[in-house]
This record gives sequence, structure tokens and C-alpha cells, in this order.
Amino acid sequence: MQGIEDLPPGTLPFEDNKRFVRFPRGRAYTAYAEINGCVQANAVMEFFDCGFNFGRENSIQTSFHEASHYIGDELGLDEMDKWRELSGWEVVNRPDGNGGTNSYWETTKAQCMVSAYGFTNPTEDFSESMVAYRYNPGPLKKNCPEKYKFLKDLVFRGIEYTDPKLCENKKIDGSLTDSLKWHLKKIKYQLN
Ligand SMILES: [Zn+2]
Repeated sequence: MQGIEDLPPGTLPFEDNKRFVRFPRGRAYTAYAEINGCVQANAVMEFFDCGFNFGRENSIQTSFHEASHYIGDELGLDEMDKWRELSGWEVVNRPDGNGGTNSYWETTKAQCMVSAYGFTNPTEDFSESMVAYRYNPGPLKKNCPEKYKFLKDLVFRGIEYTDPKLCENKKIDGSLTDSLKWHLKKIKYQLN
């Protein structure tokens, strides 16, 4: 639950009630068997055995990552052209060997990626960057200042976690959704 408490002020409550599911021990979805490595959790907040093998810090960041999918989706942030631009995301088509093509996401700005998993697509990049912003902001701020600023302005509304002193006396009125809807209108306006 710590990962949920660490969400930016004003994020909670979510518009719909969310559930946390601890999947039965030894069980996961069949599809996950095809994925190399282990699936710790998913965006509907189901947590699997594998996610409990890496200690408390990891579990906290996993719930924060999954909750960030909700934020990204609800506010349409991870699908914004601006977000894709900041990490240099492009769709690349490659022959699939059967006369057709497969599409992949690729990034041209490796310095803006905060983890190996972030390279998956813009959505995973968003959640991984949220985790980095909250728990290990230094490298993101240094290597990709515009992306850092995007999260600072649109999700965290100016709150930073780069220094414990910054955590004092931070209060924001109104819900995150309200302020973000306003922000997004402004950005769309600027981009058009
Ligand atoms: Zn994810």
C-alpha cells in the first residue's frame, strides 16, 4: 500500500474504486508463461508470486508503477504526442517473414529511458518514468530534463522528490484530475 500512499497529492481517490488482488500462490495467467522472466503485477492491480521475491522497496515501486498506468490512462498523458516526442518514440515496421509487417515502438532517445522495461513502449515508459520521478529522480532530471519537467508540471504539480527537505509543507488543493484537465487543455491549445 505504500506505493499508493506515495502517489502525488490529490491523485486519490481514483474515479472508480480499485481492487488489489494477491493472486493465489503458484498461479498466474497462462499467457505469462510465454513472457521471459517474471510478471510481478499488472495494471488492474493483480500481484503475482514473482513480485514478492525482490523485497519491500520493489513491491512499493511495483504498485506505484501499476497505479501510474491508471494515471497515464485516465488523463491520456502516455498517449500524448508531446510525451512520445520527449522520449523520441517512433513506430517502426519490419517484415514479419510471411510477406506482412509487424510494427514496433522504438526510441531515438536512449538517454531518456529510465529502465530496460521502459523501452517496451510509451505506456510502460510513462509508468517507469513515474517511478523514477518519485523514487530516483536524479538521473532522469539530469539526462532528460524536459521529460522530468513534463511529469513535474502535469502530474506532480511542481512537487519534487530530489531532496527530503522539499517534502515538507507541500499541500495542494483540488483533485489531480481537475487541475490536469485544465493543464491538458492548455497544452493542446499551445500545440495547435
Ligand atoms: Zn506496466
